[in-house]
Amino acid sequence: LVFFFAVAVKAEGEADMEKAKETAETHAFETEVNRLMKLIINSIYKNKEIFLRELISNGSDALDKIRFLALTDDKALITNPHLNITIKADKENKKLVITDTGIGMTKDNLINNLGTIAKSGTSEFLKAMEDEETADSSLIGQFGVGFYSAFLVADWVSVVSKHNDDDQYIWESDAENGFKVYKDPRGNTLGRGTEITLSLREDALEYVEDDTLSGLITKYSQFINFPIYLWTTTT
Ligand code: ADP
Ligand code: MG
Repeated sequence: LVFFFAVAVKAEGEADMEKAKETAETHAFETEVNRLMKLIINSIYKNKEIFLRELISNGSDALDKIRFLALTDDKALITNPHLNITIKADKENKKLVITDTGIGMTKDNLINNLGTIAKSGTSEFLKAMEDEETADSSLIGQFGVGFYSAFLVADWVSVVSKHNDDDQYIWESDAENGFKVYKDPRGNTLGRGTEITLSLREDALEYVEDDTLSGLITKYSQFINFPIYLWTTTT
């Protein structure tokens, strides 16, 4: 009986999610983002692991922002007092989930920050990549392509985010057809912060392995001032 109950609840949750997706707004990426993503997806760049450096550094930036805000707004942290990053691999579903309890993004932030390129270095990167003389996939690592580097290892990315000034929203993209944004039908499950789910490409399945992940986290957490927790499977 308990089993049937659990299945029924799950099906209902999935139906809600499907309904919410139907209300989703579809946005086109800025032209430069499309150019950047094409280069990332088609790159033969070997050093794909840098995606984790970029996502950890974004989490750390977001944690810095909420900590700074809390200096002048003593209620800012109530929505989640713990400041950290957690990384969880879902081997069965070939997914990697990176969560931070930082400042989060409002719906407008999701659309503006994850659909455009603010970084000045990126246009130089695009120029260099499109110039036959200098084109070299190692430029990806040199310039650091930020959030979009997630698509080095993932063919689908979802970003669930909760900012103190808005409801919880979902951003998702397969990199090819723009991105969708819709209100999370589950309500506020994060308290505050951002949860990024990467649906890993077949050639990037090493990033669900505990050993690979703990090695990379050690490497990239050196200058991060917040705890990073890795969920591991116990045997
Ligand atoms: P950069 O970090 O250099 O600004 P990114 O491409 O890495 O460039 O990220 C773009 C923007 O998206 C960030 O500036 C930030 O506003 C937003 N962002 C990305 N990840 C997060 C996150 N985990 N929490 C809050 N905001 C984020
Ligand atoms: Mg960044």
